Parts: sequence; structure tokens; C-alpha cells
Amino acid sequence: MSSNQAQHRAREILVRYCKRLPKIELHAHLNGSIRDSTLLELAQEHDQRGTISSYPNVREIILKEDRSLQECFKLFDVIHVLTTDHSFITRITKEVIEDFAAENVVYLELRTTPKSNVLTGMTKRSYVEAVLAGITKANLVLCENHQLHAHGIQVRLLLSIDRRETTDQAIETVKLALEMKSHGVVGIDLSGNPVTGNWKTFLPALTYARQCGLPVTLHCGEVHNPDEVEEMLAFHPDRLGHACVLQESQWERLHNLRIPVEVCFTSNLRTGCVKSICDHHFAWLYKTHYPLVICTDDRGVFSTNLSSEYAIAATSFDLSEHDLFELAKNATRFIFAEEPLKRHLDRIFAGVEPNYR
Ligand SMILES: [Zn+2]
Repeated sequence: MSSNQAQHRAREILVRYCKRLPKIELHAHLNGSIRDSTLLELAQEHDQRGTISSYPNVREIILKEDRSLQECFKLFDVIHVLTTDHSFITRITKEVIEDFAAENVVYLELRTTPKSNVLTGMTKRSYVEAVLAGITKANLVLCENHQLHAHGIQVRLLLSIDRRETTDQAIETVKLALEMKSHGVVGIDLSGNPVTGNWKTFLPALTYARQCGLPVTLHCGEVHNPDEVEEMLAFHPDRLGHACVLQESQWERLHNLRIPVEVCFTSNLRTGCVKSICDHHFAWLYKTHYPLVICTDDRGVFSTNLSSEYAIAATSFDLSEHDLFELAKNATRFIFAEEPLKRHLDRIFAGVEPNYR
């Protein structure tokens, strides 16, 4: 066997292992995880109705590869226009869950920004109800295919505050999350275009969430903004998304704070948050036994999946299969869901561990 063939074979074995591995996904945006085929289908419907005329090149926007950070937000703007219908929200939620379940994700924390639209009669509440209906539908389909998904997939929801929102809108989202707690909403996220909005706008809502016992995760350090990073670290959220662009003193501070970091390799590279995989802070976090979890961010927008992200970790940082198993297993410590579910996930990992040594 030539060295190329041997490499190819080793890669195949690794990819199969990563797919088989039970995994925890904690940083996945609903709108960023939509199948391209579904988006194109919907764009065509909107085109026929003449409701997407402001985006004449919608196909190109959907199918573009290697998007920059700003091009990602252009696609999100298109998705925003396309996702105005409750039944569509339910459909994409169901499909996204099926896609994660198909690669052995056993726990998924899906995040989404509740939207309202006067023209279609959508309120933030009805939007979240449509998402919850999608979760129910996915569970029904997956139960019918029990043999394919032996461990099943547990899904919980985080409601996102968009950085374009006002303080009042952000507080409304937190109130909605509290009302929907018994339906599977387990936390709050701050996300959106990192060059938009001011941290202080969202602080009252995030503080309110914390006072009411809702865990908070923040998109942090996606662009150079040392003051904001400083204030986010001072807030001490329950988890941080990305945490790519920090100053030397802030890395030290983070190290002492031990706030779990959601690491998304492909997303960070495509959006230029890190220059190359060799420069990725995963190396330092992993070496120092820092709490972290490997995630996808936007599997549709970045054409990736969680198994591929684990494979990237293995090949880029020389991790063994057992190291990957430990990473997946340890991620249960950082979920926002209730304790009994944590124990259920621990049992899944304990049960399969002998097969992954
Ligand atoms: Zn994100």
C-alpha cells in the first residue's frame, strides 16, 4: 500500500470512528443548520410568489462556499426573509434534529432567535411553539426508526438574543424562555453580527436571566473588541462561544475563570476568527485541560457536521480515538439541561466506553 493509500485508509477509519462516537452538540444555530436543498426549495417558492425580489442572486448566496464572516450574515439575512412561515420553522427544526441524530449526536442544544412578523401573524411565542412542534415531530420519526438511533437524541432549546435587538426586546426573549422552561427551553444565548450592537444593551436582560436561574452562553471574541471581552469575562457566563480574539492578559484571566468554551473549528477558520488551524486556541485549551466542547456552530452555512469537527481535532492536534471519546464524554458536564438528563447521558457513555478504548 502506498503512503497516500495508507493515509486515505487511516482517514476513512477515523471518520467512521467519529461518526459512530456518541456526541454532545452545544453550539448549533437552527437557521445556520438548514439543509441547502431545503433552502433552495423555499427560495424557489418565494421567488414564484415574488416575495424575495430584493435578493435577485439568492441561489448564489445559498450555494456560495468559503463564506467570509460578513457573507455569512448576508446568508442569515436571506434565511430571515425565507423563514416567515410556522410550518417551515417546524420542518427545518425536524430536519436539523434528524441530521444530528444520523451522526450519533445523543444530546443537542439547539439555539434560535425568536422572531415576530406582523404580516404573517408570527409572534416570538408562536415562533418558539413552531420550533417545539419540530422537536416533537423529529422525536416521533426517530422513535419509529429506533434501530438506526439506538441511544436516541435528547433536544433542548436555547433562546438567542440578537445583537440588533433593544434592551426591551432582549428582556422579552428572557421572559419567554422562562415561560417555556417546562417545554425544554434551558438557557439564553447572545449572538448575531459581532460588529453590531453594544454589550451594555443586553446586560440587563442577561442579568435578569441569571437572577431567574437561566444559564447564559455568550458569543465572545469573534472580532477584536478587548473592552467587550473584558466585560463579558466580568459577567462570568456559564459558557462562552468561540473566544478566539483575546488579549494576552485575557487568556490568563479565562484560564483562571474556567468558563467552558464551545469550540467550532470550521466556523472559526471560514470566518477568519483564527488565521489557521495551527493558530487555533484549541491547542492551548486542550493542553492545559481547560473545559471545552467541540461544536459545529452552523453545519449548513459551513457545510460541516460534528463528526468532521472531531476528525479535524484528531488530525490537527494529534489526538487518539480514546482522546476523542474522553472529549465527547466530558461534554456532558457543560450541558444546560437538568441533572437527571446529565446522568442519563453519563450512563450512555459509561455503557459504550469498553468499545472505544
Ligand atoms: Zn454561533
